Amino acid sequence: MSDTTVDLRSDTVTRPSVAMRRAMAEAEVGDDVLDGDPTVRALEARVADLLGKSSALFFPSGTMANQAALWLLGEPGTEVYAHEDSHIVNWEIAGTAGLVGLQMRVVRGAPVLEADALRAAFRPASIHAPRASLVCAENTHNGAGGMVTPLAHLQAIQATAAEQGLPVHLDGARLWNAHLATGTPLADFAACASTVMVSFSKGLGAPVGACLAGDAAPMRRAWEVRKRFGGGMRQSGILAAAALYGIEQNLPRLGEDHARARRLAAVLAAVPGVQVVSPDTNIVMCDLIGGVTASEVVARARSAGVLVTAWHQTRVRCVLHLDIDEAALARASTVLAEVMAA
Ligand SMILES: *Cc1c(COP(=O)(O)O)cnc(C)c1O
Repeated sequence: MSDTTVDLRSDTVTRPSVAMRRAMAEAEVGDDVLDGDPTVRALEARVADLLGKSSALFFPSGTMANQAALWLLGEPGTEVYAHEDSHIVNWEIAGTAGLVGLQMRVVRGAPVLEADALRAAFRPASIHAPRASLVCAENTHNGAGGMVTPLAHLQAIQATAAEQGLPVHLDGARLWNAHLATGTPLADFAACASTVMVSFSKGLGAPVGACLAGDAAPMRRAWEVRKRFGGGMRQSGILAAAALYGIEQNLPRLGEDHARARRLAAVLAAVPGVQVVSPDTNIVMCDLIGGVTASEVVARARSAGVLVTAWHQTRVRCVLHLDIDEAALARASTVLAEVMAA
């Protein structure tokens, strides 16, 4: 990929900066499977504190942390309620079934999980149907275009789940963005769930990693399930240092990505044949209603040096991030407006 390519495929494409690499190189490390890595402990303490949870555990990926949460809260042979467009439904390769023995029951209706739709999805108790054992929410919601679930809605989801005695896991890969967009404290969002996953490799710009934070009871076996899934890591302080750097240096600047997303959305909304989901955060979803397909847009944009994703046949996803500056935004706006025009 040439240096002039503008890559809006995901906020995962950011490369660790020189300063982040220096923090990684200088990290104090130990064997975290054997007897502990001090930088990993520092990261976990920082995340538990930010989220107001009793502990946090560092994972190699958000996917593994989500699956571990399902293992901790769910029960094999039961169902998990999740929005039809959520990450655990769309992108985790049936891990829920294969690794945890849970069946997905998708909730339809609104673009994100809502309490009313959840209540309507509850199945009456029957010896012929599996019981449910948990509910999974996602904030911000990737499939809905980085949409924020406001605190009151998340609290309503938690209360509705509790009516059925179900705990909530929150996939908060981009909870940082929800926090920056609303000013709601991270801990208030996290209080709506028993376990919360947060990612470091999206907007925070770290190369890999996620934390699962949670209440004392579910987290009791978190170390064990991470080991079982093959996620024990040795001198992982190298990676935790990048995550700590991302929290301190890059979390406060996420608002810049949100502002650029709004500007890109405004440009593309004026293009004939394009309908844009007004962005809450850093993701711009463009629906092509004029007959051009998403894969045509992706191919044309690529040949003009701009990379975007075909979310489905008529929807294109553009994600703003740390490595997109003013010049890159201007270039992407011009190219995308041209190639999306019906
Ligand atoms: C990226 C993402 C994940 C998975 O994180 P990885 O570290 O890439 O495995 C989970 N949920 C959501 C909403 C995500 O965007």
